[in-house]
Amino acid sequence: MKPAQFDYERPSSVAEALDLLRREDLFVKVLAGGQSLGPMLNLRLVQPDLLVDITGIPELKRAEPDSDGITLGACITNADIEDGRAPDVTGGVLPAIARGIAYRAVRNRGTIGGSLSHADPSADWVSGLAALGAEAIIRGGPQGDSGRRTLPIEDYMVGVFEAALEPGEILEAVRIPRLSARARWGYYKICRKTGEFAHAIGAVLYDPERSVCRAVIGATESTPLVVADAAFLFGDRPSDNLAATYDTAAAARLLDRKGMTDPFERQVHLAALRRAVDRASLQ
Ligand SMILES: Cc1cc2nc3c(=O)[nH]c(=O)nc-3n(C[C@H](O)[C@H](O)[C@H](O)COP(=O)(O)OP(=O)(O)OC[C@H]3O[C@@H](n4cnc5c(N)ncnc54)[C@H](O)[C@@H]3O)c2cc1C
Repeated sequence: MKPAQFDYERPSSVAEALDLLRREDLFVKVLAGGQSLGPMLNLRLVQPDLLVDITGIPELKRAEPDSDGITLGACITNADIEDGRAPDVTGGVLPAIARGIAYRAVRNRGTIGGSLSHADPSADWVSGLAALGAEAIIRGGPQGDSGRRTLPIEDYMVGVFEAALEPGEILEAVRIPRLSARARWGYYKICRKTGEFAHAIGAVLYDPERSVCRAVIGATESTPLVVADAAFLFGDRPSDNLAATYDTAAAARLLDRKGMTDPFERQVHLAALRRAVDRASLQ
């Protein structure tokens, strides 16, 4: 199928984009890499009057590292991260996640902001960035260009294919903390073929210098299960050898709380988290 007819604008600043998004007489949709929106347009699952292509906005392509972390503009592509054009402050975590997303052609165009805003539960950035303790920087809303608010990544995705965006807002950037040299990280994505969306994701971050111990069970049927203080998964004694104290029964209780009852789903998600813990312990 072909998309229904739409108009197209390519603003050169966030302010211009927000002006277009405020048009109440039109159904306006943001276009980033088009890797998810493109198929949805072709299938006519979405029929906007106007597409606002944000990929020509320099502010959304910035990558600004500082002593605490990095701010990545929403239009940084997966390939920018994979290839190191966006500096890495995570000791290789970000490029490794990017490399596991889809295929090179998709990574060349797909953006970090598009992935988060599409809010597919099985997408990699939703879970990976939640495990890193990243934040979403949202711009616009009633205050227009000067309106800005920040949310933890886990609160940016509010449901299946639903991001916490109010009318007239866009995701401007993602703020990612710098990991210390002692940080231990594990990420494991279970999928049928390399480059496919995940069936289950496990992620764990232990960064003792920053007193951080986080875990994520992702690619569930809705939002990922994010554990901001995951020490209890390690008998309250997390160490560099996380696998030594890892408590599978505690992880299973998390799934109970999430209401995950299907035995296969439980098994595959527990396996993903277990393997992430093993990877973190091998560093
Ligand atoms: C074959 C294939 C395999 C894939 N495999 C994977 C995979 O294994 N793992 C994975 O994580 N992803 C995967 N993807 C998805 C891919 O990562 C896309 O990059 C991502 O879903 C959308 O990013 P995009 O920049 O193309 O956004 P678009 O498709 O342009 O937009 C997606 C949605 O987000 C909105 N949007 C985009 N940017 C913003 C913004 N800054 N502010 C507000 N709203 C915004 C759009 O309006 C639209 O609703 C795959 C895609 C394909 C086609």
